[in-house]
Amino acid sequence: MSVYPCINIHLDTITRNTQNMVSVCQHYGVTPAGVTKLACAYPEVGQAILNGGIQLLADSRIVNLKKMHHLDGQKMLLRIPAISEADEVVQYANISLNSEFATLEALSNAALAQHKIHQVILMHDLGDLREGAFFEEETLALARQAIALPGINLVGLGTNLACYGGVEPTVDNQSRLVSLAKQVETEHNIKLKYLSGASSAGLPLMLNGELPQGINQLRLGASVLMGIGLNDDPVPNTRQDTFDLTAEIVEIKVKPSVPANSTALDAFGNKPEFVDRGLRKRAICAIGKQDVDIDQITPKDSSIIIIGGSSDHLILDIDDSEHDYKIGSRIEFDLSYGGVLQCMTSEYITKHFI
Ligand SMILES: *Cc1c(COP(=O)(O)O)cnc(C)c1O
Repeated sequence: MSVYPCINIHLDTITRNTQNMVSVCQHYGVTPAGVTKLACAYPEVGQAILNGGIQLLADSRIVNLKKMHHLDGQKMLLRIPAISEADEVVQYANISLNSEFATLEALSNAALAQHKIHQVILMHDLGDLREGAFFEEETLALARQAIALPGINLVGLGTNLACYGGVEPTVDNQSRLVSLAKQVETEHNIKLKYLSGASSAGLPLMLNGELPQGINQLRLGASVLMGIGLNDDPVPNTRQDTFDLTAEIVEIKVKPSVPANSTALDAFGNKPEFVDRGLRKRAICAIGKQDVDIDQITPKDSSIIIIGGSSDHLILDIDDSEHDYKIGSRIEFDLSYGGVLQCMTSEYITKHFI
């Protein structure tokens, strides 16, 4: 496989971001889980998070937890499991997030068959309208049913915010989770180990000292991996430069900026538009929309203009650059969250762990 394009992954930055998040969370009574899905759970990344002091690795997909099976640490499945994967959930996850009785039953049966007790956190919806019951009575009823199942152990309540509905973690919604947990604890005379309040989106609330007493877990992905949280804002004491992308130049030519007679649609069925900058020096890089959306990447050389691309070609205007780019030169790009996700997922992009 060719070396370029490649995504560079700075593992020491992930470890340092994790260390900083672990110590700041500790100050507020929170033990974070480390979410690996942005990096497709490459074991190198999981290990870098463990090296930073997080002991619970979490991912949305069972295939990803499987990749990290050999790593130390507990594993948690974030996406509500499918009944069809119950056996694998019990095999590869110590804990899963749940919202349906039929699935809990399947997990309990799978656990009994594997001579295990599977731990579950029940998800309650505080208004973001993704997973979990919206009505408290439903979650309380599900807790009763969960406690009655022999193969599972109810270990916590959780909620997810700022994912679908753009609802921020607040004192009010986090307090509602705490009070719901107290009702479950009182009714069943149990102590819940985890109150899992939010993702990285909960960090601003915590850093303001406003996270209600009782919330003791945040599920941190974007913050430990990319140093960003709510609204993609940078998180204090983290670095944002964990990932970048390198592509290679395969052609440099001076050309007009507007096609001679543009009447057809482009390769993606859109009517192309052009800015006339006159004759310009252009470069083609060997990377395209099959690898990553062009609007998710930003050249580090700020004088380069991304003009467009097709499935396998990225077209750049390098006329304003002071750099003397040649055929075979490499161009580096910063990546958005979506850009990292696409590059990590693409089989055409080399993963370069540094
Ligand atoms: C992805 C995910 C997270 C992590 O979110 P970040 O914004 O990356 O910190 C936490 N919880 C659940 C349920 C998720 O799906």
